[in-house]
Amino acid sequence: MTHPAPHRQAKSRGVSVRHQPRSVPRGLVELLRKLAKVKAQARALGIFTDDRELLECPNCGLLEDVTAEGLLVTYPKDSVDLKDCGLRFCPVDDTRFACPKCGTSVKAVIL
Ligand SMILES: [Zn+2]
Repeated sequence: MTHPAPHRQAKSRGVSVRHQPRSVPRGLVELLRKLAKVKAQARALGIFTDDRELLECPNCGLLEDVTAEGLLVTYPKDSVDLKDCGLRFCPVDDTRFACPKCGTSVKAVIL
C-alpha cells in the first residue's frame, strides 16, 4: 500500500502580498451619495451650493450674492441695502440662466 506523499507546504517564507484591486472605498461612495443628497436639499432650501459662479445680468445689473448664512439672494447692482429682491435666475440649460427681471440670457461659469 503506497500512500501518496502528502503535499509539502510551500515555504511560508516570502508569502506574496497580493495587490488589492484598486477600487473606491465603500465609505467614500456612501459619502458622495450623501453629499449629493445634502446638496439637493440645500438647493431646495435656497442655499447656494457653490458649483457655479454667481450670476450678474449685463443688461439690467441684477446680480446674485450669497449671504453670511449661505443663502442665495439677488439685488440690483446699485442696491444700497443689498436686500434680497426675491427674484431668482432661472436655468435655461446646463450653463445659461435667464434674468428674472429683463429675461436676458446669462452664461454661468460652472465650477
Ligand atoms: Zn436683467
